[in-house]
Amino acid sequence: MKTIKVNIVTPDGPVSETEADMVIAATETGEIGILPGHIAMVAPLEIGALRLKKGNSTENVAVHGGFIEVRPDVVTVLAQHAELASEIDIDRAKRAAKRAEQELQAKTDKLDAQLVELDLKRAINRINVYESK
Ligand code: ATP
Repeated sequence: MKTIKVNIVTPDGPVSETEADMVIAATETGEIGILPGHIAMVAPLEIGALRLKKGNSTENVAVHGGFIEVRPDVVTVLAQHAELASEIDIDRAKRAAKRAEQELQAKTDKLDAQLVELDLKRAINRINVYESK
């Protein structure tokens, strides 16, 4: 079966260089499934899971925004932060979610509230990806 290369890169360096049968990504306009031979495209990503299907298993990666570039033989994800499920510190993510929820209740400033909502979204994404291991 044909596979597609997947490179996930952040400013801190490469997070993963692997191969997958199929890649599922959460873009800003919805979820897309990418098979080998997909047409070239670039799309902005949501805070969400990047799912790498390999045989009967799926590896999930928490990706926090950024872009996906698709070429027929390679998918490149450029994100500010990205973590493999196995690298997620679940206690830290739960603490971050709790802190964000408490801050949201106290916030009156709209801009601050939007930033805290993003903190909460990142923490929930990490928890979901960790739990999907
Ligand atoms: P926290 O409030 O716990 O610091 P954060 O959402 O503010 O979380 P980020 O700014 O998104 O953290 O990320 C900062 C760095 O820490 C990045 O390198 C990111 O990959 C890493 N990171 C953040 N939370 C976790 C986690 N729960 N497990 C593993 N790495 C994490």
